[in-house]
Amino acid sequence: MSKHLVFVGGGHAHLTALAFLRDTVRAGHRVTLIGPAPYHYYSGMGPGLLSGIYRPAEARFHVRKMAEDRGAAFVEGRVTLVDPFRRALILESGREVRYDAASFNIGSEVPPDLLGPSPGGNVFPVKPVENLLEARRMVRETSGGRTFRAVVVGGGTAGVEIAANLGRLARETGRIETITIVSRSDILADFPDKARSLARASLARWKVEILEGAAVRSISRGTVHLENGSAVDGNLVFVAVGIRPLPLFRNSGLPTGEDGGLLVNDRLQCVMHPELFGGGDCITIEGIPLDRVGVYAVRENRILHRNLLAFLEGRPLLRFNPGGGYLLILNLGDGTGIFRRKGFAWDGSLAFRLKNHLDRSFMKKFQLSGETDGLPAKDNA
Ligand SMILES: Cc1cc2nc3c(=O)[nH]c(=O)nc-3n(C[C@H](O)[C@H](O)[C@H](O)COP(=O)(O)OP(=O)(O)OC[C@H]3O[C@@H](n4cnc5c(N)ncnc54)[C@H](O)[C@@H]3O)c2cc1C
Repeated sequence: MSKHLVFVGGGHAHLTALAFLRDTVRAGHRVTLIGPAPYHYYSGMGPGLLSGIYRPAEARFHVRKMAEDRGAAFVEGRVTLVDPFRRALILESGREVRYDAASFNIGSEVPPDLLGPSPGGNVFPVKPVENLLEARRMVRETSGGRTFRAVVVGGGTAGVEIAANLGRLARETGRIETITIVSRSDILADFPDKARSLARASLARWKVEILEGAAVRSISRGTVHLENGSAVDGNLVFVAVGIRPLPLFRNSGLPTGEDGGLLVNDRLQCVMHPELFGGGDCITIEGIPLDRVGVYAVRENRILHRNLLAFLEGRPLLRFNPGGGYLLILNLGDGTGIFRRKGFAWDGSLAFRLKNHLDRSFMKKFQLSGETDGLPAKDNA
C-alpha cells in the first residue's frame, strides 16, 4: 500500500535517501521533503566559504531540485512541532503535513544563551553555515572605509577554523583590523599538544590574538563580556561555543537524550514512535554516545535510507554501526591544514589538499550534475 514518507531537513544524513528517491517513488510511495531553503550547505566547507576559498555553489546541495526532479514534493518551511499521535508535522507557517513515516535531519544550533536581548547586528553563530556567507558578504560590501574588529567566541575546531579564515578575509579585503579568539579553556583543548601548538603558530601568522582561560558571560552590542568582569570590544562577533540539538523534539514531548536530541535505537528509529527516524546532529542513539560531527551524519546515510524503505515495506531493519574513530582536518585558511587522528597530528599543505579532496569528492557524489555551472555572479561571489 502506498505510504507517505516525509523527510524533515535535507541534511547530510539524508543525502543517500535523496539520491535514491526515484526508487522510493517507483515503489509506489509518496515522498515529501521539508526544509527552510532550497539549498543545504556542507558544513565542512563552511570556514572556506567565509574566506572565499569556496564559492557558495561549490559547497551546497540543491535539495529542492534533488527532491522535485526525482518525483518528490518540496515544501519550503521549518517544522516547529511534531504530533506523533496524529502523525502530523506542524510548520512555522501553521501548515500541517501528515505522514506515515518521517525522518529528521534538522541539525543543531549554537546555544543562544550568551546572546542577551540586544546582541547587536553583527553577531554570527557559526550554525547555520549560511551565517558565514552573510558575514563574508557584509565585510566585502561594507562601504565608507568602515573596518571591523573581529572576535571569535570559542576555541574549539570551529572557532580556530573561523579565526584562521577571517585572517584570509582580512588579507583579501583590508577591512578587518584585529581578530581575537576568546576561549574558556586552551584552544583545541581535546587535541594532542602538538596540534595545539601548530594551531597557535598558524593563528600567530594570521596575527590572531588568543585569549585562553577567558570565559564569556554575555555578548551585547558587539562587546564580549567576560566572567572576570573585563570585556573584549568588537564589531564582528562569531559564536562557536559548541552545538546542541534544536528544541523541536523536547517541545513536542518526544523522547530525547540529555541535550534534547531525538532518542533513537541503533536502527536510527525513535524509541517510542517506530514511524519516526532520524540522523545527524539532531539525534541521540541510545547507548551509543557520539560526537556531534558531520562524519557520523555521513556514516548514517546508508542505514537510514535502507531502514526507511524497510519500515514502509514491513521488512526487518538493519543496525547502525558507527565504526571506529574519525579523522579531522582543520582548514587554516592559507592552503595548509592540521590533520588529527586519535593522538596523532601534523600540519602542512598536504593536510589541506587531502581535506579539499575529501570534501570535493563528497560534494561530487551527491550534487546534481551542472549544479555549480551557469549561476548568477552573486551566487558565486
Ligand atoms: C564551522 C564548522 C565546521 C565544521 N566542520 C566539520 C568538519 O570538517 N567535519 C565534520 O565532521 N563536522 C564538522 N562540523 C560539524 C557539522 O556542522 C555537523 O556535525 C553537521 O553539519 C551535522 O549535519 P546535519 O545534517 O545533522 O545538520 P545540518 O548540516 O545542520 O543540516 C540540517 C538541515 O536541516 C535543515 N533544518 C533545520 N531546521 C529545520 C526545521 N525545523 N525543519 C526543516 N528543516 C530544518 C537545515 O536548513 C539544514 O539543511 C563543523 C561545524 C561547524 C560549525
